[in-house]
Amino acid sequence: MEGKSVLIPEDLGPFPMGDPNRAYARYFTGNSFLSQLCSAGVAISNVTFEPGCRNHWHIHTAASGGGQILLCTAGRGWLQEWGKPARLLRPGDVAYIAPGVKHWHGAARDSWFVHLAVAVPGSGTGCEWLEPVDDAEYSSLKE
Ligand code: MN
Repeated sequence: MEGKSVLIPEDLGPFPMGDPNRAYARYFTGNSFLSQLCSAGVAISNVTFEPGCRNHWHIHTAASGGGQILLCTAGRGWLQEWGKPARLLRPGDVAYIAPGVKHWHGAARDSWFVHLAVAVPGSGTGCEWLEPVDDAEYSSLKE
């Protein structure tokens, strides 16, 4: 949120937008918002990305189980696994990211993007944050 005004579109889906995502801001390009919806049993967060915002490449690590499920609720965005083409995500789309798979997710250049992030239960789960998504590669994504 550093010095940049952020326009809020009318419909960012049914879940609370939450607060500016300060805790993970260093792992994101652009502004995002985070709302922890549920922490008992299964951790579920609502993540809102402003246009152009995406997280860095990262890996959901686990000794067993783990991984992440994304449920898109509003806007348009991308999910890309390392070595694969980026996949466009729209409301109603569901994506499973297996543990150990390097990937990023975030908004399209010209759209807000909102997804629920479900942490698949497991043991020894964590997240390894890696390099930012290359600007030229991101800019070249086409729907
Ligand atoms: Mn992820």
